[in-house]
Amino acid sequence: GVSIRNVAKSFGTVEVLNDISLGIDSGEFIVFLGASGSGKSTLLRMIAGLETVSGGEIWIGGRRVDQLAPGQRDVSMVFQSYALYPHMSVRENLAFGLVNVGTPKAEIATRVATAARMLEMDHLLDRKPAQLSGGQRQRVAIGRAIVREPKVFLFDEPLSNLDAGLRTRTRFELSQLHDRLGATMVFVTHDQIEAMTLATRIVLLNKGRIEQVGAPMDIYARPSTRYVAQFVGSPP
Ligand code: ATP
Ligand code: MG
Repeated sequence: GVSIRNVAKSFGTVEVLNDISLGIDSGEFIVFLGASGSGKSTLLRMIAGLETVSGGEIWIGGRRVDQLAPGQRDVSMVFQSYALYPHMSVRENLAFGLVNVGTPKAEIATRVATAARMLEMDHLLDRKPAQLSGGQRQRVAIGRAIVREPKVFLFDEPLSNLDAGLRTRTRFELSQLHDRLGATMVFVTHDQIEAMTLATRIVLLNKGRIEQVGAPMDIYARPSTRYVAQFVGSPP
C-alpha cells in the first residue's frame, strides 16, 4: 500500500497542503475528491514524484520514496491530457516506457499484447494517436500504465476530456480493470458521481486539508461536516 505521513506542500510562502496523513491499503481504489484548487493534483503528483514534498514522508510498498525519482517508485500515472507521442504508433506508445528501461523485446511484446487485449485495442495497434478518438487515446494512456505493471496506478481526472456517454463507459472499464489487476489505484476527480461509483474509499480534500475519509456510502450517509454534506449532496 501507500502511506502518507504528515505531508505538507508549499509553493513559495503559500501552503497548499497541510499535514496530510493517510494510509492506502494494497488493492484499494482511493479517490481524492475536492473542489478546484483543493490540492488533489498536488498530492497525487507528490506520490508520483513529480512534485517534491515540503515536509513529511511518503512510503510505497514498505519503502520510503519521497526522495526517490519518479522512475524508482513503482507507480504509473495517467494524465487527463493523455500525453501520447504523436509520431509513434499505438504499439510503440505502449512499448516506449519499457524499451526505455531495457525490458527484453519478447517480454515487451507479451505485455503489450496483454494490455491491448484487456483494453480491446488489438485492432488499433498500428494506428497513430491522430487516427484515434478521444476515448481510444485515453485507453492507450491507460494501457501505457498497465504494461509497466506498477504497484500503484495514479490517475489525474483521466475521464474529464471524454463526452458523457464515453465517460460512463470508460469509468465502468476502469472499475473492471481494477477488479482484474487487483492493483492499488489512486484517482483524482472533482466529480462526486465518479467518486461514488469508483471508490472503495473517498478522501475529501478542502483547501489543502482532509475533510473526511470513508467509504462512499459512509460519507454520503454520515457526512462529518456541513461542507462534506453539501459537496456529496447528502440529504438534509
Ligand atoms: P483542479 O480540480 O482545478 O485540478 P486541484 O485540487 O488539483 O484543482 P492543485 O492543482 O493541487 O488543485 O492546486 C492546489 C493549489 O496549489 C492551488 O491553489 C494552485 O493554485 C496551487 N499550485 C499548484 N501548483 C502550483 C505551482 N507550481 N506553483 C504555485 N502554486 C501552485
Ligand atoms: Mg487538479
